[in-house]
Amino acid sequence: MMENILLDNILIQREQRMLIKKKLASENKIIISFSLNIPGIPKKDELIDIFFETIKSEIKIWLAANRINIVQEIDCNDILAGNYVLWTLRKDFYSAHEIKRICELFENKHYIGRVIDLDVCNEKAENISSGKLKKCFICQNEAAIICMRERKHTYSELRDNIFTEIRNYLYKQKKNNIINKLVEFAIKSMIYEVSFSPKPGLVDFFNDGSHSDMNYYMFINSTATLAPFIRNFAELGYDYEAEFTNVLALIREIGIQMEQEMFKTTNNVNTQKGLIFLLGISVFSVAYILSKYQTFSEEKFVETVKLICKDIVNNELNNKSDTAKKTNGELCFLLYGFSGIRAEVEQGMPTVFNYSIKTLRHIFDKDFFNDKQKISYALEKTLLTIIAHNNDSNIVYRKGIETLEQLKLLARQVIDNKIEYSELIKFCEKYNISPGGSADLLVVSLFLFFVEKEIYI
Ligand SMILES: [Zn+2]
Repeated sequence: MMENILLDNILIQREQRMLIKKKLASENKIIISFSLNIPGIPKKDELIDIFFETIKSEIKIWLAANRINIVQEIDCNDILAGNYVLWTLRKDFYSAHEIKRICELFENKHYIGRVIDLDVCNEKAENISSGKLKKCFICQNEAAIICMRERKHTYSELRDNIFTEIRNYLYKQKKNNIINKLVEFAIKSMIYEVSFSPKPGLVDFFNDGSHSDMNYYMFINSTATLAPFIRNFAELGYDYEAEFTNVLALIREIGIQMEQEMFKTTNNVNTQKGLIFLLGISVFSVAYILSKYQTFSEEKFVETVKLICKDIVNNELNNKSDTAKKTNGELCFLLYGFSGIRAEVEQGMPTVFNYSIKTLRHIFDKDFFNDKQKISYALEKTLLTIIAHNNDSNIVYRKGIETLEQLKLLARQVIDNKIEYSELIKFCEKYNISPGGSADLLVVSLFLFFVEKEIYI
């Protein structure tokens, strides 16, 4: 009984669709119709809808790439008969046969082309056929129609196959979209930071700050060198399934490759080494969270970073043998007990979540995104907030704790409007101070802020 109703409905739908085609053809138009080849029922559900819409936009891009102009789009979706869309075309320089060939090219080149049904009708409402038979999902080399006639496969066998492929396809698409976004946000954050001018002691567009060996373009070059590797952090995080015991080494493995490339580009100047470390952990964590939980949250991020960097201060600073070659951060810990960036990551980046991202959330709004002055204002306030709270071990190492405390106090006074921003810049100039660690945290804050604001799954 149910089956009869279903069959009737599908036949009625087909009839109606044919009538629409005839009417359009009578207006002297070429018509492409797109539907999915879904055996059995249901022919329409949430997953199928998402897949249909994804492929639909891919087809439209393919048609545009072939300079085929769609004049009209008519949706004829039906809950029983499935998703169906008609496009009418202007008769530009293609015949219906040529359009059929272009549509077949799309089906053939597509990863999951056997589910895609693109029909072309000429101006007389006649279906154009290329005479080629569609291949079976399961036997690949056999024509689908033969398997169907011989009832070689059950509906559920066919459907299982198709839906596994659809799910795989959508997973890959989604992963790719998310990773593209994360790369975009990371690069945008790096360019925002270096371009923001003027900055106290740091390289900006107009000044090289307290650096005689760096300039703005060196940062741009270094950023461009690092850009392709951001994808590696994101891919590692998105696919990560194992325990977190060794994950830091995996992140660092990518980081060290980046450092080597960076040094080649900058002629051995350390422009962004600290940033590579912070971005590696951050991009990995965000990708991991989006893949596992579908949505980003501050709590999950803090938790993930803490897991990745568990005991890093103890393992890398306390237990370091005296003879080993030491980084500035390690020496600083030895001399002053400052655990700098390692403490920051071990605690899940408190400077970012307690201070800088709050400043960004407070100031930035959607309309700001293309406004130079407002962006500069937000960057200035956020950088000041970070400098006022960050125990930058590089400054301690080079200038001592007293200078760091003085710098933090001055930043606080600028925030409270007690002194001018230019006084902080002069102070850094006079004492040759560069708050590079704060600049790195600004980049990470921006990255996380863009993720929070712009990622929709
Ligand atoms: Zn077959």
